[in-house]
Amino acid sequence: SVMPALLSAISNGARRGVLFKSGNHVQNLQGVRVIAFDKTGTLTKGVPEVRDIVAFHGYDEKEVLQAAASIEQLSTHPLAEAIVKRAREKDLPLSRPEGMESVTGFGITGKLNGALWKVGKEQFVDAPFVERAKERVNEFARQGKTVVFVQRERELVGLISLEDVMRPAAKQVIEELKRQGIYTVMLTGDSEETGRSLAAQAGVDAYYANCLPDEKVKRIQKLQERYGKVVMVGDGVNDAPALATASVGVGMGEGTDVALETADVVLVKNELKRIPYTVRLAKRVDRVTK
Ligand code: ADP
Ligand code: MG
Repeated sequence: SVMPALLSAISNGARRGVLFKSGNHVQNLQGVRVIAFDKTGTLTKGVPEVRDIVAFHGYDEKEVLQAAASIEQLSTHPLAEAIVKRAREKDLPLSRPEGMESVTGFGITGKLNGALWKVGKEQFVDAPFVERAKERVNEFARQGKTVVFVQRERELVGLISLEDVMRPAAKQVIEELKRQGIYTVMLTGDSEETGRSLAAQAGVDAYYANCLPDEKVKRIQKLQERYGKVVMVGDGVNDAPALATASVGVGMGEGTDVALETADVVLVKNELKRIPYTVRLAKRVDRVTK
């Protein structure tokens, strides 16, 4: 019967750091055709570091970092934390912004000494770019770095590039899944260019950039219509709706509480390499029970 095979799969999984919240999820994994991965914190380590700071319009790098960090102090976004960390390492005194407003998936605004600052992605700022800014943005994105734009009033005064490293296992995991006949996809809120570079590094079959949480959901639904069962792997608050929509949602163990609550399966130690194993585990149960 099904029960003993399922129980043995669940306990084998648990021993290897794969927690199934219920036996149904083992069965829902059987015959999976597509696995979608979030980028930040899932394929990558999720701890970005500031790499480059560029200043325009008579500002210097220190001023750009100081202002950006002052605004970002109130954000819990990993990019914000990296920017604040760098400013503290440089002993830059941060000011308290006023009227801070955070826009999920885009960035954050606030006032410093009465001037309005915007810190976030390209689509979030609206000041014209100087020619040099365009060149640097393209350069950073090609390198797989995420670019944060820093705007003061009506001027783009700087860029901050940040880099997050791929988890060492990512490439191999993707290769192995492809060998198992699974179509691999990366979903990210990051830009098209940065997304492309990291998708190439990981070796996924396809990627979708500039995804708001809701767009991750729609993408999962489209993949389900086209291919059938779709697994989503994620760690962030912004992945929770997609984890809930997927045939099976897999949460990274060190991810946010919301992601872990929503997930059907949890990779306790954040080990991506457990994913091909989990697919095989479910397949074995399928064979035993047929
Ligand atoms: P993801 O974690 O998938 O990259 P998010 O939805 O968290 O995506 O954010 C999408 C993009 O919005 C980020 O890549 C970044 O460019 C921008 N962004 C969001 N919040 C902030 C912030 N506090 N500071 C700077 N940029 C931000
Ligand atoms: Mg993430």
